[in-house]
Amino acid sequence: MQMSLLSTPFIDNNDLFETGSTGGMSREMINRIPKTRFSDASNCDQDTENSCCSVCLQDFRAQHFVRALPHCQHIFHVQCIDSWLLRHASCPLCRAGVHIDHIHM
Ligand SMILES: [Zn+2]
Ligand SMILES: [Zn+2]
Repeated sequence: MQMSLLSTPFIDNNDLFETGSTGGMSREMINRIPKTRFSDASNCDQDTENSCCSVCLQDFRAQHFVRALPHCQHIFHVQCIDSWLLRHASCPLCRAGVHIDHIHM
């Protein structure tokens, strides 16, 4: 019958200093992360922290396509975060795990 009700496929990914990453996400999963166009009319002008891409360290420009990660809402250029996520399933900035299963579209 139901022997392990508490077993869950979700693994809490708190190992911030883990360097031997077990690999990233598939291209198909990455494409399910919502893509938006960066606009400099975004809510807060003073939020300089989120105005440049932590992967390539370039500023975002209006009309650039960016992805906002589902948990932390950090944004990165599409091409930057895509190549990152292929190797690491976590945010380059805050290391929050990216669990695409939790996105409901
Ligand atoms: Zn970038
Ligand atoms: Zn983040």
